[in-house]
Amino acid sequence: MRVLVISDIHANQTAFEAVLEDADGVEAVWCLGDVVGYGPDPNACVELLASQPNLVCVPGNHDIAAMGEMAIESFNGEARLSLLWQREVITPKNMAFLHTLPQIAEPSERVTLVHGSPRDPIWEYMLNTLTARLNFLEFTTELCFVGHTHVPSIFWQDVNRDRISLDIPKEAVPIELSGRVILNPGSVGQPRDRDPRAAYAIFDTESSIWTSHRVEYDIESVQKRIREAQLPEKHALRLEEGW
Ligand code: ZN
Repeated sequence: MRVLVISDIHANQTAFEAVLEDADGVEAVWCLGDVVGYGPDPNACVELLASQPNLVCVPGNHDIAAMGEMAIESFNGEARLSLLWQREVITPKNMAFLHTLPQIAEPSERVTLVHGSPRDPIWEYMLNTLTARLNFLEFTTELCFVGHTHVPSIFWQDVNRDRISLDIPKEAVPIELSGRVILNPGSVGQPRDRDPRAAYAIFDTESSIWTSHRVEYDIESVQKRIREAQLPEKHALRLEEGW
């Protein structure tokens, strides 16, 4: 099965559509949370996501805050302003969809999905090998897919040598996964690795091959909608620089 792995769409419909078109013909979509927050299109993104085949999705910190299930004070000023706006505009039907998402999912017996990390699904950032080392103890499947950092990354566990190593995946280079691995596809709607193109990954469940991808999208049109909605200017600027 060819699975589209995505994370951190962040209410960016244009980036999400570009990813779906580029990925072309997947049999399942696994989403690692933060469907909403920051961007101007929360309803369109939830609806587009909900219509995907064999969808499995976990919520992120922004989704939970948008639902009103987390104190908004946990977020910085600009993220908070955006979240207050999302709370106002997200329709009851789309809120109900967000409410159905489980914090941890196992879409196959080999894979665990979480937004942040297995030991703290909502908040922990998987940024370094120490964090990864501690988290390898917290899930039982071979593979764990995470989001939240907005940076494509791969953490390998070498059980024999008791080592964890970090790779930044190269674009469109297939990687055969073996052993225990934690992977992050990067962010669809707000990349933070200085590459403004939307990020996603394709995971082939039969061959166990992971391929990271990037795709350009019309950033200006999203910036225009951010400004029209009077959302923080910072969230428009960062899209064109990828931070
Ligand atoms: Zn995020």
